[in-house]
Amino acid sequence: MNENIGFKKRKKAFTALAILCVIALCVGLYCVNMQKKRYALASFAMSTIVDQKAYGPHANKAMQAVEQALAKFEAEFSLYQAQSDIAKINAAAGGEAVAVKPETFALLKRAKELSSESENAFAVTLAPLSLAWGVTSEHPQVLTQTQIDALLPLVNDADILLDETAGTVKLAKKGQAIDLGGIAKGTACTLAENLYTQYGVKSALLSIGGNIYAKGTKPDGSLYRIGFRDPLTTDTQASIASITMQDEVLAVSGGYERFFEKDGVRYHHILDPKTGAPANSDIVSVGVIDKDGTVADFYSTTLFVWGKERALQYFRDGGRGMLLDNEKNLYVSKDLQDSFELVESAGGYTVVFI
Ligand code: AMP
Ligand code: MG
Repeated sequence: MNENIGFKKRKKAFTALAILCVIALCVGLYCVNMQKKRYALASFAMSTIVDQKAYGPHANKAMQAVEQALAKFEAEFSLYQAQSDIAKINAAAGGEAVAVKPETFALLKRAKELSSESENAFAVTLAPLSLAWGVTSEHPQVLTQTQIDALLPLVNDADILLDETAGTVKLAKKGQAIDLGGIAKGTACTLAENLYTQYGVKSALLSIGGNIYAKGTKPDGSLYRIGFRDPLTTDTQASIASITMQDEVLAVSGGYERFFEKDGVRYHHILDPKTGAPANSDIVSVGVIDKDGTVADFYSTTLFVWGKERALQYFRDGGRGMLLDNEKNLYVSKDLQDSFELVESAGGYTVVFI
């Protein structure tokens, strides 16, 4: 009799354990599947397409938060949005100092530090000239030398006067203006990175107009493979080569990205602060990789203006990325040698590891 009761108890305990095991297995499988489930979101911000892909249970929420944060970022930093801190600083140039948000202050401070490293190739105070050229606007125009000469004295990042204690910014001369277009997309990538982390997203891929951030690895453990765009086609998905990346930003600059043509001449959107005209660069496109998106974006623009020789020195000195010149030489920084792959159909390129 006692034996029978003992047997029944053991049977019950065994059944309960088995049910628990099945539940645990189901929950486990569900979690694994959730981690592997891919979500995607496409939106438009900063005059370009924003593409997000992310994995995991919080991916959707994280991507929506990124979408909102980019809209907010643009509203704060775009010179084209009248209520932005930047538009207010520009409107008050030569007059009163403007109280700005701490993030605006920090970004302008960073921009000023970076441009001082650029040997006069990068200047956020290029705005009077970039607005007059209007390469990205609906009415671009070729400026005369007289027009350029009138605006060029306004280009000087040292004239961004930052008052740390008051939290104010002032442009020294009337007519001066700030355009953060050369670093904004990279900075936005890092902003997104922080949000993905906050939301517990371990794997994501973000593209803001060709500036790419890869977070973690794919759920199967493989690395994200990022294409280096073929500048000879308008197909933004066509690549000539690819590399793998993890927790880094790739920022790409090239004259083919935005330009207009007049009388058979092409005028692109990257200006040389020394001449006030589109940089006469022997680089077709250049990609820079860095953990800090602002730095990557800053250097991609700066290297383009520097031109090939000075830019290659940047890679020799430990900078990371790749550069395509106008003779189809593709220079790749040595550290990328193991992950670099030339796309088979991309013919005629000479790859040089440097
Ligand atoms: P990117 O595509 O990162 O090379 O940035 C190009 C954008 O940066 C342009 O559309 C302008 O808004 C701005 N820009 C152009 N030339 C320069 C320059 N030399 N220094 C800083 N910003 C620039
Ligand atoms: Mg840039």
